[in-house]
Amino acid sequence: MPDLGAIVRDIAEEMREHAYKGKVADYIPALAAIAPERFGIAVVMADGTCHMAGDAQQAFSIQSISKVFALTMALGAVGDQLWQRVGREPSGSAFNSIVQLESEHGIPRNPFINAGAIVVSDILLGRYEPREAIGEMLRFVRALAGDDSIVIDEEVARGEQETGYRNMALANYMRAFGNIRHPVEKVLGLYFHQCALAMSCQQLAMAGRYLMARGRNPDTGRSVVSPQRARRINALMLTCGHYDGSGEFAFRTGLPGKSGVGGGILAIAPGVASIAVWSPGLNERGNSLAGTLALERLVQATGWSVFEPGLGQAIASE
Ligand code: GLN
Repeated sequence: MPDLGAIVRDIAEEMREHAYKGKVADYIPALAAIAPERFGIAVVMADGTCHMAGDAQQAFSIQSISKVFALTMALGAVGDQLWQRVGREPSGSAFNSIVQLESEHGIPRNPFINAGAIVVSDILLGRYEPREAIGEMLRFVRALAGDDSIVIDEEVARGEQETGYRNMALANYMRAFGNIRHPVEKVLGLYFHQCALAMSCQQLAMAGRYLMARGRNPDTGRSVVSPQRARRINALMLTCGHYDGSGEFAFRTGLPGKSGVGGGILAIAPGVASIAVWSPGLNERGNSLAGTLALERLVQATGWSVFEPGLGQAIASE
């Protein structure tokens, strides 16, 4: 077994040279204010051991990584009916693109582009009142991470609200097709708050454990989702988790991953590890530049990739 502690520390060290190369999101002041050279990494193994380096305990805005948790909740609420309103294909377009919605009659390509996540929020409002839905989401993420200190950054949520014209356009456009059923302000209120969840790499890697562990929360042993659903969420992360950069991310890491414009990435090595990285500088597709490079390095050093034959067994028997 490679010395993971050393690997993770070496990666954090190397990323000091790369972190400042990306462009920090500047559409809201709360994100624009983050120093570009920050970098954190946390790796939580199937046996519960955790390796961390850099700013792994610094909370940041998880943004679109929250779409994974929202999708998980919505599938729990309505099951596979969800797929009547959201597709499962990579979009090949930017995260906030509106172009495909017209020809595809208001059905977003997948749940990880903004349009898809907004439909997921609407689905959750079929089950909960807006305030309740935000509270449920927070409770859910806290339970997954085993950490009650996780909060929503209200300043970020307000910034999203004040600048969210594109998201409003997407929601209104889909409402015209009947694929948004609740008032747009309520749907976006939920969406903006989930984007404003503030978590550290450690908390995020902990929260992602169910996707490494065939749908179970290792703390409680309880099933969060079925093994099949965990596989499917991972498949969507691999194919759609980085928008029009999903192919490139899969090529470089071979792992399911979900990025956020705050610079975080949650990546899953099924059966082996749940990994979170954070570096706020983004590449041209809006995905963390050094975060992606760090995951590429981790996979090179460990051989973790879903395309590595017998990955889970190899690690288990070491
Ligand atoms: N809050 C951002 C938005 O809705 C989230 C996008 C992202 O993280 N890619 O535009």
